[in-house]
Amino acid sequence: ILCSMESITKNLTDAQADAVTHIDGPLLIIAGPGSGKTRVVTHRIAHMLHQGVRPYQIAALTFTNKAADEMRMRVNLLAPGQPVWMGTFHRFCAQQLRRYASMVGLNENYSIYDMSDSKSAMKRAIAAAGIATSHTSPEQISSAISKAKNRLITPEIMQQQSGRAGDTVAARVYPVYQQQLLLANAVDFDDLLYHFARLLRENPEVRAELDAKLKYIMVDEYQDTNLAQYAIVRAMSVDHPNLAVTGDPDQSIYGWRGADLNNILDFEKDYPNVKTVRLEQNYRSTPNILAVADQLIRHNRRRKAKELFTENPDGENVILRQYEDGYQEADEIADEIAAQMIAGNAEPRDFAIFCRMNALTRSLEHALRNRGLPYQIVNGQEFYQRKEVKDLLSYLHLINNPAHDVALQRVINTPTRGIGATTIGRLQSFADANRIPMLEAARRANEIDSLSKRAVTMVSRFVTIYDRLRKKATASLEDLLRYLVEETHYVAYLEKTGIEKEDHNPVANVDELISAAVEFDRMHPDDGSLDAFLEQVALVADTDAFEDSNNRVTLMTLHAAKGLEFPRVFVIAVEDDLLPHRRSKEDDQQLEEERRLLFVGITRAKQWCQLSYAKRRSVRGDIRPVIPSMFLNELPRADMTVQEARADNDFFDAVDQEYPESWDIIQEEPDGTAADSGPGVQLDADPFGPDEVFEPGPEPSNPSTVDRLPSASVIPDV
Ligand code: ATP
Ligand code: MG
Repeated sequence: ILCSMESITKNLTDAQADAVTHIDGPLLIIAGPGSGKTRVVTHRIAHMLHQGVRPYQIAALTFTNKAADEMRMRVNLLAPGQPVWMGTFHRFCAQQLRRYASMVGLNENYSIYDMSDSKSAMKRAIAAAGIATSHTSPEQISSAISKAKNRLITPEIMQQQSGRAGDTVAARVYPVYQQQLLLANAVDFDDLLYHFARLLRENPEVRAELDAKLKYIMVDEYQDTNLAQYAIVRAMSVDHPNLAVTGDPDQSIYGWRGADLNNILDFEKDYPNVKTVRLEQNYRSTPNILAVADQLIRHNRRRKAKELFTENPDGENVILRQYEDGYQEADEIADEIAAQMIAGNAEPRDFAIFCRMNALTRSLEHALRNRGLPYQIVNGQEFYQRKEVKDLLSYLHLINNPAHDVALQRVINTPTRGIGATTIGRLQSFADANRIPMLEAARRANEIDSLSKRAVTMVSRFVTIYDRLRKKATASLEDLLRYLVEETHYVAYLEKTGIEKEDHNPVANVDELISAAVEFDRMHPDDGSLDAFLEQVALVADTDAFEDSNNRVTLMTLHAAKGLEFPRVFVIAVEDDLLPHRRSKEDDQQLEEERRLLFVGITRAKQWCQLSYAKRRSVRGDIRPVIPSMFLNELPRADMTVQEARADNDFFDAVDQEYPESWDIIQEEPDGTAADSGPGVQLDADPFGPDEVFEPGPEPSNPSTVDRLPSASVIPDV
């Protein structure tokens, strides 16, 4: 049952309605923050359904699962129960690749490596390519290969093109890494896009088939697409060029992941008969907030100027606040939140605190916890990265895909079975020499001369356990998982080895994973597929742990905040070397991206916004003086209230004692290269992951916020 036409088009401006009612032909919606771009996408889907477009002809692509969930919810209000495909780019590609796996050299049960799996695979490939990592780090090599994939550069082309020393090394590793992935029947996050884009390019029949099937493709946040993503949506919009994209060049913040602003700037060139709609009115923020954001972004040179206005009533000035140090910042922000709540006009869920890097949230967690304020850290990957969860998932991966060498290496001696690193190394060499998966090498352990008799026995024992588990592969997920825990005596192992800390309960996490399996079984009663479960887990991006229904203060990175809105926003540590990040200052384009990042942060706020910096901040235990961000000088003081720090030396000493732990700010890289999270991001963070986008902090954080699974959602197949 669909809602009436009026309910779809009412509450839209003329410009919005114009975009919503456009059905056939390319459409570009280009507009600033809070102007209703995402709203247009949801209403347009409802309108198309109303006009007789079949739900399975529509696909709406987003960068985070969170954005997709939100979209699904809003479309469901307007057009209940319609199986329109909505999800991230990475999930879309993952599903398509299942169908066409053999065409890119995979089996349909292929595995998706998460960041840590990819890292292990990369190390192995670097070693196999015979490269010493003294000059180029594995991270640099990974990042160069990732960039190449995002630009659809094959190993052969990269080898031809490589000039710079770093790239030459990466170009040597790239083919080895790809071969090893294929041998393991696995892909990394970038491969999801890369393989699918190449599949479309190299197989005209497949391209035409999908083009005809998915007649209406929509992309929200188009400014953050990279070349691979662009190639994918273009390829599926040739015979039926009904591609609709929305974006804001001023909010492009994924350049480091290969996003190309030209994709949006050139859209009109690529589709000369495009209908372009510009939305100018902001519905989200007060005029004061908008004025501050607007003044900031005017300092970027690489942009098309646009006017933003709002009819929203005036609000409070944006606050620019200086603190003595990071601890005072955390404490006073927590006090401010408590005060605003007591004043009766706000709830925890109204507040969001954004920072450039996850590591910066630690003192805020202390401060909020001390005051009993509920909070959540948006970081979905964290649960799945816990040792016990990762162990069990690795078993599942290996059951699903016997060629998953990374999983094998993790579980072959977990729980302990007397199989040491030397034995594992010998299995690996044998596997490499014979181009077989390590599990196959384990089966043939008696052929490996260098292995002791004892080692062969231990390895065979593991293979026996594995074969027993594998027989259960088609059971329900719950049964499989319970059987696995029992057969491996996993809980006993945890109890024996694990030091149960007050803030970390591994056995409870095992139970939580089983609950997730039960939930997944319930939602997939027919297929009960291990594949689908593992895919869902792999594609969790960092924004997924975020749930509106929780009445909690939200802490997140600026990258994760994209597309969201909150009544009250704090942006912390707006300081030189952090925002803009130290490594971005050499390069004008990167500096502009940092400015856009702050712009995204400010424009999330509906009613109230505070930017802050400290005079000193402790970095790896050292207290260092801080220079305020250059961006702060660019803001209009007329719409702002500036508050200097209350100097209070006793306070400083006292707090230092209270929080003896040292901080570790600088080590984390801005782009999460240190340990990137999935796409969702965006594998990246989307990835997956991604999307997301940022790595979990080096230490586990508040148990009340992380021992919880990101919500699983029902995703119809394309
Ligand atoms: P961003 O660039 O930050 O993603 P956006 O352009 O996607 O922003 P939306 O999130 O769609 O903007 O809309 C911002 C807010 O304004 C939402 O709360 C939305 O419901 C509201 N809004 C948009 N258009 C209208 C309208 N015509 N009438 C009332 N409210 C509106
Ligand atoms: Mg939006």
